[in-house]
Amino acid sequence: MIAPDMTTAIARLRELADDARVIVPFTGAGISTECGIPDFRSPGGIWTKMRPIDFSDFLASQEARDESWRRRFAMEESFGGAKPGRGHQALASLYRKGKSPGVVTQNIDNLHQASGIASEHVVELHGNTTYATCLDCATRYELPWVRQFFEASGRAPSCPSCGGHIKTGTISFGQAMPEAAMRRAEELTRSADLFIAIGSSLVVWPAAGFPLMAKRNGARLVIINREPTDFDDIADLVARHDIGAVLEPFISKPN
Ligand SMILES: [Zn+2]
Repeated sequence: MIAPDMTTAIARLRELADDARVIVPFTGAGISTECGIPDFRSPGGIWTKMRPIDFSDFLASQEARDESWRRRFAMEESFGGAKPGRGHQALASLYRKGKSPGVVTQNIDNLHQASGIASEHVVELHGNTTYATCLDCATRYELPWVRQFFEASGRAPSCPSCGGHIKTGTISFGQAMPEAAMRRAEELTRSADLFIAIGSSLVVWPAAGFPLMAKRNGARLVIINREPTDFDDIADLVARHDIGAVLEPFISKPN
C-alpha cells in the first residue's frame, strides 16, 4: 500500500509498530540529509562530480592516499558538526523501549550512535568515516591526529606502530564488504517481524537483498523514501514523504 498522504502513512506505521515485537530499521543517506550530510550518490552528489578513489589505488599510491585524506578533511564541515535528525531520534526511541534490537545502516556518519544506540547495536555496512584505522594492524586513530600530521606534512600518515596505511573506517569502492557486519545484518533482518527501510534507494548491493530477505522470512515491510524503489510492490506500507516528518511522532524522551 502506498500511503496517499502523510497522516495515513503515520497512522499505518503506528499500527504496524504497535503490532511488532522486533522492529529492524535499515537506513540510507535519506535519513541524514536533514542533518546536513550530503547524499554522495544522488544526482549532483559528490560522487557524480568527483571520481571516487578506488581501494586498489589507495593501496598502490601515496598520491591517492593524500587525495583521499584531502577530500575527507574538506567534508569535515558536514560530518564534524552533524547532529542526529528526527529519524535518528525516532529509531533511538524504539531502541530504548526495547522494540528494536538495533539498526542496519549504509551510512558512515555515526549519527545512529550519536542518537543513543549503542555502537555494538549499529551494524555499519559501509563502515564509519568519523575515525581511522590502520589497514594492517587495525589500530584505531582519531581524525584530529591524522589531520595534524596531514597539515604539517601534506601527506597521509602511515601507522606509527607497523607502517601500514591509515584509512578512514569506511568501506571504499573495490574494498571487500565487512563480513562480520554482513553476518550481523542478516541475523538482525531474520529476527525482524517489522523491517523498515528508510532513506535508501535499495539499489546498491547488498542493500537490495535485505528487504526481500525480511519479507521472505515473514516480516512486514515498510519503505520510507522520497523516491520509488524496486520493492514498493511487495511492501506493506510505502511512504514517499519527508523522512523526518513521518518519524517525528515516534520520538519519545529518554526517561
Ligand atoms: Zn598498523
